[in-house]
Amino acid sequence: EPATVAFIGLGNMGGPMAANLVKAGHRVTGFDLVPEALAAAADAGVEAAASATAAVTGADVVLTMLPAGRHVLALYQDGGLLAAARPGTLFVDCSTIDVADARAAHEAAVRAGHQALDAPVSGGVVGAEAGTLTFMAGGGEAEFARAEPLLAAMGKKAVHCGAAGAGQAAKICNNMILGISMIGVSEAFVLGESLGLSHQALYDVASTASGQCWALSVNCPVPGPVPGSPANHGYRPGFAAPLMAKDLGLAANAVRAAGVDAELGLRAAELYAAFAEGDGAAEDFSGIVRTIRQRSGT
Ligand code: NAD
Repeated sequence: EPATVAFIGLGNMGGPMAANLVKAGHRVTGFDLVPEALAAAADAGVEAAASATAAVTGADVVLTMLPAGRHVLALYQDGGLLAAARPGTLFVDCSTIDVADARAAHEAAVRAGHQALDAPVSGGVVGAEAGTLTFMAGGGEAEFARAEPLLAAMGKKAVHCGAAGAGQAAKICNNMILGISMIGVSEAFVLGESLGLSHQALYDVASTASGQCWALSVNCPVPGPVPGSPANHGYRPGFAAPLMAKDLGLAANAVRAAGVDAELGLRAAELYAAFAEGDGAAEDFSGIVRTIRQRSGT
């Protein structure tokens, strides 16, 4: 049955996600600080509110898609969303934020008499537009069940990963694997080049052997072996390097907070931070192979 949804943060991701909720028949009231983003959402059938607080009044569910944890926490508390919402409102944060911030947001929502779920996504802007995102959720069974019809309107899959923060944890652990493996695949290609090994030969061997992974066989960082990979299209994203750098930064925060000995995860965060601030600012994250080649002087 149709829900009354407040959607705060109508940017690259939130805009099309809110539009898909409207298409599925839900009543969506939205807010964004950027007037153009709010206007675009209104064109897609979202009712434009005058403020975030105004948007949540009367909502069953409050969805947020914001840049970072500080934005979520500031809106929940200082921004007055928790105070303005009806008791028992479900707060679903889809932003990618620190695990610690996600847990703090849960606690604040519950303390204010509400329900909460962290539900970050993978699939990018293309997935947001097509309604094919994957959601990774953290929170209680009842909260997950309550959110599921809305998640189904915006994505193709929703995985309940565990208690508060488990969605964010799954997201950053997955992307830590991906960041490390992309660097590993890239280093192997550059080493292969200097040993006189062709890209195709290394690909043919590794993609059908134990070196196989997504970074190699789908998002191959050198042009040729996988025609659809960004390497064949000037490293146009795809998965933009600054977003990988952000996610690895969140992973590094969690690694340090937990005291885990994740040397490669921490190093991957450093390498991607430098790449995203330099040559990779507008590139797919697989473009890091060129930095490795440059630094090798080959
Ligand atoms: P974006 O910058 O396009 O959108 C964020 C929006 O939040 C902006 O429009 C901004 O004006 C708005 N905003 C900030 N503070 C606000 C406030 N107090 N009140 C109302 N609106 C406010 O970013 P995005 O690409 O849509 O990403 C959003 C989140 O999704 C991030 O956490 C990002 O890490 C995550 N994410 C992005 C992608 C992607 O491919 N873009 C993929 C997966 C996850």
